[in-house]
Amino acid sequence: MEPNLVNGAAARFVSHAPGHWPDVTESDWKDWRWQLRNRVTRLEDLENRMTLSAGERAGVLLAKSKLAMAITPHFFNLINVNDFECPIRRQVIPRFEEGQTSAAEMADPCGEDSHMPVPGLVHRYPDRVLFLVTDRCAAYCRYCTRSRVVSGAGEQALHTDLEQAFDYLQRHKEVRDVLLSGGDALLFSDEKLEYLLSRLRAIPHIEFLRIGTRVPIFLPQRITPQFCQMLQKFHPLWMSVHVNHPRELTLEVREALERLANHGVPLGNQSVLLAGVNDTVEVMRELVHKLLICRVRPYYLYQCDLIRGSGHLRVSVSKGIQIIDSLRGKTTGYAIPQYVIDAPGGGGKVPINPEYVLYHNNEKVVIRNYEGKVFEYPEVDAQAEVVLKTIAENKSP
Ligand code: SF4
Repeated sequence: MEPNLVNGAAARFVSHAPGHWPDVTESDWKDWRWQLRNRVTRLEDLENRMTLSAGERAGVLLAKSKLAMAITPHFFNLINVNDFECPIRRQVIPRFEEGQTSAAEMADPCGEDSHMPVPGLVHRYPDRVLFLVTDRCAAYCRYCTRSRVVSGAGEQALHTDLEQAFDYLQRHKEVRDVLLSGGDALLFSDEKLEYLLSRLRAIPHIEFLRIGTRVPIFLPQRITPQFCQMLQKFHPLWMSVHVNHPRELTLEVREALERLANHGVPLGNQSVLLAGVNDTVEVMRELVHKLLICRVRPYYLYQCDLIRGSGHLRVSVSKGIQIIDSLRGKTTGYAIPQYVIDAPGGGGKVPINPEYVLYHNNEKVVIRNYEGKVFEYPEVDAQAEVVLKTIAENKSP
């Protein structure tokens, strides 16, 4: 048994290496640059390893002009090639439905472009910014909210100007929190990322740095001890990873997350609720439990943004509420993410909760618990009135 894990927990983390790459050397497999060089990006790469449906074939061809396909060997090995509905496959192999757009869908569903004072910097909330430092990722998620710019194949290009962004941040003293995203900043070399973080840390009013990344999941080899040592120079630095299905939490991913945590990086997870991927209570429960073992706090569960061509992956909001409701009271509070909708057009994240407040007025709040039992709690004003009344009564002759 592994020393740090409770009985049985270790068995839930498996390695799938080398899988479809039987001839690779161990040192190549563990080299993140080898993983990047050997990504599955072409139709023939896929068809050499699996049989595609007609819809997937059409999707791969369409991806060339929309959101490119790329899958690291590490992540590709998680696909069950005999299952057309494999939850890993649905996330990274394009389908013809990506070409179908409904009236509600948009290229920029979160309204980022209209909140960009300088190229690559989204300043929507007063005290924090989203810094889109690159348009490249280790692999491409078919539901990506930024698919208009990431991968370089879509309809827009990202023209981030680092110097302009640093200058803007220097001048805007109200910004205390910078989130690096993209694309994925962890694709930069250690040196380049260190330079970027140093420049941000040199701005005195920036208190808090965050990195949003899927690299630890797509490419755990990237999380080397040297990389972690470099990161720890920039604390407080937090990281949001992105895991949707428990199978993504492999042995290598768990070790990578552990390295980050051991270097003092607080970890949160952002999942997207996706049809056929994580839209059941059982899958979600397994996911959040495995995340806690990896020392990652399930943070957000996103309703899938209204990105063009994502309808086949979208789940109803009522289903999402039902999943959260089924977790509440039945597992550790830390394990329950906040379900949110990123309000279309740029309204920010809005929490979506099951209804626990049944009634509320100046006197009381009527609530239900996870079992459906109903309770009353007096409002503070009403409590104060009772105290005053009691005092008054006690003073009466
Ligand atoms: S890793 Fe993030 S930015 Fe990159 S494709 Fe996936 S969702 Fe989009």
